[in-house]
Amino acid sequence: MANEQRAGTAASEQPDAVRTEAAARPDAARTAELIEKLIRYARNRNMIGTLDMPYARNQLLELFRLDEPCEGYLAPEWSDVPDEPQKLLEALLDEAAASGLLPDNTTTWRDLLDAKVMGLLMPRPSETEARFRTLWAEQGIAAATDDFYALNKDSNYIRMDRIRKNEYWLHPSEFGEMEMTINLSKPEKTPQEIAQAGQAAAADYPQCLLCADNVGYAGRVNHPARQNLRIIPLELNGEAWFFQYSPYVYYNEHSIVFRREHVPMKLTRDTFARLLAFTEQFPHYFIGSNADLPIVGGSILSHDHFQAGRHTFPIEKAPTGQAHVHAAHPGVRVGVVDWPMSVLRLTADEREALLNAADDLYRFWQGYSDEQAGILASTEGPGGQTRHNTVTPIVRRRGGRYEMDLVLRNNRTDEAHPEGIFHPHRHLHHIKKENIGLIEVMGLAILPGRLLAETGAIARLLAGQKDWEAARASLTEQDPLKPHAVWIDELVERYGTRLDEAEANRVIRHDIGCKFVEILGHAGVFKRDREGREACARFLAQAGFKAQG
Ligand SMILES: [Zn+2]
Repeated sequence: MANEQRAGTAASEQPDAVRTEAAARPDAARTAELIEKLIRYARNRNMIGTLDMPYARNQLLELFRLDEPCEGYLAPEWSDVPDEPQKLLEALLDEAAASGLLPDNTTTWRDLLDAKVMGLLMPRPSETEARFRTLWAEQGIAAATDDFYALNKDSNYIRMDRIRKNEYWLHPSEFGEMEMTINLSKPEKTPQEIAQAGQAAAADYPQCLLCADNVGYAGRVNHPARQNLRIIPLELNGEAWFFQYSPYVYYNEHSIVFRREHVPMKLTRDTFARLLAFTEQFPHYFIGSNADLPIVGGSILSHDHFQAGRHTFPIEKAPTGQAHVHAAHPGVRVGVVDWPMSVLRLTADEREALLNAADDLYRFWQGYSDEQAGILASTEGPGGQTRHNTVTPIVRRRGGRYEMDLVLRNNRTDEAHPEGIFHPHRHLHHIKKENIGLIEVMGLAILPGRLLAETGAIARLLAGQKDWEAARASLTEQDPLKPHAVWIDELVERYGTRLDEAEANRVIRHDIGCKFVEILGHAGVFKRDREGREACARFLAQAGFKAQG
């Protein structure tokens, strides 16, 4: 009895104390109303069911330290609920900052809370999977990916408000139209945020950004919050893999397919088998893998993964030359793609036939040297022989056929090209010095955000708003235009300084496009001159492929 009384007293006293604090917050009513709108947004977007609404409401009230919902929360319909969550979220994050819920009102902390809020309005991972499988079975895979992609945007995991900031243009070239983007969707970190991330303790959980352990993870100042991430299990080649969307959306329905285990990238026959298996299950998506060696590979080599999506890249539209056939691989045709890099396109009706031919070609390429073309399969290094040859494979369906592009790569360096012989050369580093990975191989340039301000300044020079001669003389090493100085000289020489600003921007963008095509040429192992074509023909002949009459 005494115990009950004590418990009763505590129960009635404590909420009172909290209630007083909440009531003292002048913004409490406004915060509660934002929460209610967000719940109704999630219900409208089918992220939660009607039965989930009180549950989600109570979770959000707790998160924002409120005792009760807003007035009218029981009304069956609300009229002014937006179709996108960002404005509601921004307002809620402002309230959180004002009421001391955020340690700092920086993008880092706001993004961490944002994902937590949306995570409370999501289906459970197994519910998302069940919905995906039902749609797949009843309406086909495209209906399943459409619905899952919509969830990824609705949940603000894919931040369309940021993605829309990216600059995009098409660059006409002899290889068709290249796609060009300046990536402005990643918010710039303040020096304070960079310092906080640097001071954060090193953590080994989750092991990397791709591991399935990220689902539901709260994040840290140096690791994104992923309460709103959902993944779909897949079976590829008899192994457990996962499918998810990339939050960065470099192209439509940009997906990541990653292995359940945290194991390093390794390109083998199994890789080709997995890629082909994926296109059987997702025939409306292409899929590709970055190469498995540094310099020519992707940014994450520690966790085996592929990138896929629903987008027709420029490379897919590029034609192939004469067809080649191999006596041991009937039904498979190989053509050299008309592309600045060295791309062999294999096509076949039978998956297994294509797999065998691709594996044979890859093995042959791994051991292939052609000194005349500067290609050495391996070199003697301090730790023994170092392998240099690999491929960037891309697989798609064309009608009922299987199509695989094998992009031949070599990562050797020498004194003249310490960053890589088949890598962007130094005179183009002012535009791009990073690895040429899968996405760029396919003809979509992803350029750093800094370029927008820099090219804007160059456009003003070409429009005569500032004197380049004088500016050039006083350029410091730190000046953002310093790396572009030689390029600006050329532009001024070619176009003068009397362009209007819009015209100046056009010529600059055209020039960047030309440089991107040149960069892809640097990454090509067989150059597009007569010697290069002959070297490519030698390779195909030695691999046993004969040109069809
Ligand atoms: Zn991992």
